[in-house]
Amino acid sequence: MTKISFFDTKPYDRTFFDQYVADFGFEIEYFEEKLNAHTAVFAKGSSVVVAFVNDTVDKYCINRLAEYGVGLVALRCAGFNNVDINAAAGKVKVVRVPAYSPYAVAEYTMGLLLTINRKLHKAYNRTREYNFGLNGLTGFDLHGRTIGVVGTGRIGRVFIDICRGFGMKVLAYDMYPVNDAPYEYVSFEHLCENSDIISLHCPLTKQTYHLIDERAIGRMKDGVIILNTSRGALIDSEALLEALKDRKVAGAGLDVYEEEADFFYEDWSDTVIKDDILARLVNLPNVLVSSHQAFLTEEALSNIALTTLNNIKEFADGMPLTNEVTINA
Ligand code: NAD
Repeated sequence: MTKISFFDTKPYDRTFFDQYVADFGFEIEYFEEKLNAHTAVFAKGSSVVVAFVNDTVDKYCINRLAEYGVGLVALRCAGFNNVDINAAAGKVKVVRVPAYSPYAVAEYTMGLLLTINRKLHKAYNRTREYNFGLNGLTGFDLHGRTIGVVGTGRIGRVFIDICRGFGMKVLAYDMYPVNDAPYEYVSFEHLCENSDIISLHCPLTKQTYHLIDERAIGRMKDGVIILNTSRGALIDSEALLEALKDRKVAGAGLDVYEEEADFFYEDWSDTVIKDDILARLVNLPNVLVSSHQAFLTEEALSNIALTTLNNIKEFADGMPLTNEVTINA
């Protein structure tokens, strides 16, 4: 029987995987620990590990996994920037869930924009204390505003549809533009200079690391709103914080953060957070930080579980791996 070691487990993961695993005839052992070179030992005796966005699947971890007889790293996410694909080559196969619900992430991104612009987070807190004043809650109509979308893949395109439904003008930037798109592709520089809101939907790669840095922010319109539901390190957080303090950037909706692996998905409410940038971002009134939850819908969790288990079945049956991540992926 195929034995799976499942890392960084949360109750909602178990709910959805347990629903389907019996049909596949696999045995799963759940671990709350994140996967890294130290915890890889838990995978001894398993042929498959299931990993998530903040697991550290570097060359040390991969060597350990290979040593313990693991043949497959099944990512239960789309992004694979946390896996050293070069190190994995010839040692372990890597698969992922390329798409599970672009709607989940795109809809959440619009939620962040509406919250930051219309200050829903403040309204919620105010009325809970019977403060029904409106001072300071003024936003702007999204209709007629220009949104710059970086990355027009599955999520970016759904987000663009939503924005167009709001009557927004869309400027897009992608290395591989979509043919006959009903919106305009422009250079990254043009997008920065002309957008009222900028939303990131490209993967984290060597080219996109700190795509939004001091220089890019310098090009942007005063009062721009920045949204990131993709990967934290697309933004130089220090540069963003400075720009927020200077009011160059009027607001930010961040579902991801470059140092999130140290904090996200855990309760730190009794601790003094040592990351000053994160602590400051969380405290700013015009910033909403959420804990990498844009994917968290029933549909997405169900699709993640089914696709991951199908990926593992292909491996167990010695079939070609539909969702394999290779060096050129
Ligand atoms: P996708 O592969 O369908 O689309 C990514 C797009 O980015 C592609 O069109 C690609 O050409 C483009 N791109 C690649 N490099 C680029 C560059 N240097 N500059 C501009 N564009 C570039 O991916 P997707 O399913 O739309 O997901 C996008 C990202 O969203 C993922 O990489 C992942 O990091 C993130 N994500 C986050 C969550 C969450 O819960 N917050 C959930 C799923 C995915």
